[in-house]
Amino acid sequence: MSDSNRRNFLAGAALFAATTTAMLTSRATEAGDPSFMNNVPDPALSGKELPTFKFALEKSEGKVIGKSSGKEATVLQLPISKGIAGVSMRLEPGAMRELHWHATAAEWAFVVEGRVRTTVIDPQGNAETNDFGPGDVWYFPRGHGHMLESLGNESAHFILIFDNGYFSEFGTFSISDWIGHTPKPLLAKNFGVPASAFDGFPKDEVYFARGAVPPEQPASPLQGRKLPPQTHKYEMLEQPPHKIFKGGREWRVDSSRFPISKTVTGVILDLEPGALRELHWHPNADEWQYVIEGDISVTMFGSHGRYRTETMEMGDVGYIPQGYGHSIENIGKKPCRILIGFNSGTYEAIDLSQWFAGNPTDVLATNFSKPASLFEKFPKQDVFISSSGE
Ligand code: MN
Ligand code: MN
Repeated sequence: MSDSNRRNFLAGAALFAATTTAMLTSRATEAGDPSFMNNVPDPALSGKELPTFKFALEKSEGKVIGKSSGKEATVLQLPISKGIAGVSMRLEPGAMRELHWHATAAEWAFVVEGRVRTTVIDPQGNAETNDFGPGDVWYFPRGHGHMLESLGNESAHFILIFDNGYFSEFGTFSISDWIGHTPKPLLAKNFGVPASAFDGFPKDEVYFARGAVPPEQPASPLQGRKLPPQTHKYEMLEQPPHKIFKGGREWRVDSSRFPISKTVTGVILDLEPGALRELHWHPNADEWQYVIEGDISVTMFGSHGRYRTETMEMGDVGYIPQGYGHSIENIGKKPCRILIGFNSGTYEAIDLSQWFAGNPTDVLATNFSKPASLFEKFPKQDVFISSSGE
């Protein structure tokens, strides 16, 4: 680079930095609306090479209390993942993720193992308690107060997805933290009970509370039952798969099937060995991936010749920014299962085979400088999942 080029480059970089700093404010206020991102240069994505889009979540340490743990993937662990954060949480029997809310994100969850009970309150004062087993999904709108507790004598394991990468599970608003830092006279006035009622309350955030295994039938709330109009629970794997192919199958839950889930769509994708979820992109959402089982290869195309492949195994997390091309291939000897989350309640994708099929052969011939007859051999419909050797 010549000196004058270098000066121009540095001046451009300074302007760029100022612009992105200014944009951070609007980014925060408009989180959840992906459309604003299209005109914002993202420093994490504007380099010559694509950054890594993989994080070994289950190999990370996270937060551990007793036999309960929470491991998180946010922009701190995986800088590219600005639109979505994820947490792998385990609750031992009798453990509760205490009453809390998330100021900056909605929470979507998929239960991998064990059973979980949740109670969530909405701004209208409605409260819903639900029990969840493997394959079930919950959704809590941003800011709604909730708790999670394991049921029975087995540990529960679930994956949480948040529609904001700047979210942190360890920076949420917990009830013990709030009450522990509020003067007792104020609490006494608030609740109309003697100040001594708060003697011995925890002084700091409890995070994982530990107590007796909850009763099999949930008791009635203090206010009695007052249910919300929309449920927070969806039994995803109780449904037949929404798409079935020779090489795999997919369950998909968006707001059309699960109306309360306005900002998140979730997918379980099973691929047989050698099968490929074909090259595609999502016009309206970022994609967050968690490998429940198996070994996969994920490719990403980022324009300007930038292309990157990551190999992922059980417990790894991947992230594909909105609009970036990608594919997922089972490179192991066994079937694989991937949990995928999108930060939009409406699912949109464009598959490469479908795009080819949507064009006349003369267009493809000119585009690639090949005879039109070649493209007669291409698929005439969406492939979606391609099985091995075909
Ligand atoms: Mn939560
Ligand atoms: Mn995808």
